[in-house]
Amino acid sequence: MNAKILVIDDELGIRRGCQRALEPLGHQVVFATSFQEGQEKIAAQDFDLVLLDVMMPDGRGIDLIPYILARDPEAIAVIITGYATVELAVEAIRRGAYDFIAKPFTSEVLLVTVNQGLQKRRLSLEARRLQSIEREAVQLAAAKAEAEKLNQFKTEFTNMVTHELRSPVGGAQSLLRILLRGLAGELNPQQIDILKRVEGRLDELLDLINDLLDLAAAKTVAPQEALQPIPVQPILQGVLDRFEADAQAKEVRLVVKLPKDGFKVQATEDGLGKIFGNLVGNAIKYTPMGGRVTLETRQDGTQLEISVADTGIGIPADELDHIWEDFFRAKNAKRSGILGTGLGLSIVKELVDQFGGHIAVHSLEGQGTTFNLRLPLV
Ligand code: ADP
Repeated sequence: MNAKILVIDDELGIRRGCQRALEPLGHQVVFATSFQEGQEKIAAQDFDLVLLDVMMPDGRGIDLIPYILARDPEAIAVIITGYATVELAVEAIRRGAYDFIAKPFTSEVLLVTVNQGLQKRRLSLEARRLQSIEREAVQLAAAKAEAEKLNQFKTEFTNMVTHELRSPVGGAQSLLRILLRGLAGELNPQQIDILKRVEGRLDELLDLINDLLDLAAAKTVAPQEALQPIPVQPILQGVLDRFEADAQAKEVRLVVKLPKDGFKVQATEDGLGKIFGNLVGNAIKYTPMGGRVTLETRQDGTQLEISVADTGIGIPADELDHIWEDFFRAKNAKRSGILGTGLGLSIVKELVDQFGGHIAVHSLEGQGTTFNLRLPLV
């Protein structure tokens, strides 16, 4: 270790001697010729080791030790003394000096003392580093336990709330249907209009509850054994069938290239359906009348690549990074009046991560969006 060493001594011979012994070893040697100059240098710079003359015309080297240690508790102070007495040695050590050498001294004695001092400093610094790592590890473990507890609570809370909410909403929808079909008496057009709006709001509420349930399920990491090789083609076909009527109603053309039969990915059937359902559903939802949604799949080595591209409203560039966040909806989506909860892509991201895949998005506002999904093939 090349060290930075300060030599405080009023004797030129001692300073020269130290320089000759220490510099060839790669150490940087700085000098001070008086107590005061030494004090100034200690205040201005960091040193690994300080060699101090015990007695200078303007002060005692021993009195500088507290300054040295205040700046760096691990710095090494070595006293140079012309009259090595036990009392002086004891006082120096008591004040925190590492060792002392008696004048006149050979360069061997100097080097042994300096090397031992630097070795002690290395060990002290290493011990301090380990202590701080240990402290950080303890803090991290506590933070992790806290986060896990919070996560657990969040999942339980969401599950409880969603289950408690879904049945009453379902009940209210059934009752409304009875009214709307005229089974509880003839309704006038104004009443029908109001009840239809209530029905619309309940549909929205149910969408939100269902998305919350899906998100809670997705965030509760499925145990590895729950994942199985799932054939992709039938799941995609099922999703396309489900959305065909929506696409037709908007005259959105669905251009589809399904994967070969037999492609399987390690996933859950329900999770895979949620991923494709959200991507295809969004593509149709955010594409205006007469647009096009293209679904393509291809094999790339051990990966299955699936892209869902649309000619829809796109996502503003400055919001692209946020679309995976819970409840996030882009400004243009909100402005368009298209309903949504901002949870679909959070669910997608969560599931794709769990299935060991990767998803990316490219979009130009006003022109369209493409989601590229990669899943490892079984
Ligand atoms: P939402 O229920 O609002 O559709 P998502 O989580 O599925 O929620 O999507 C988050 C946001 O990302 C949407 O609100 C919308 O702003 C944007 N988005 C997602 N898919 C598309 C798409 N195909 N075209 C344009 N915007 C999209």
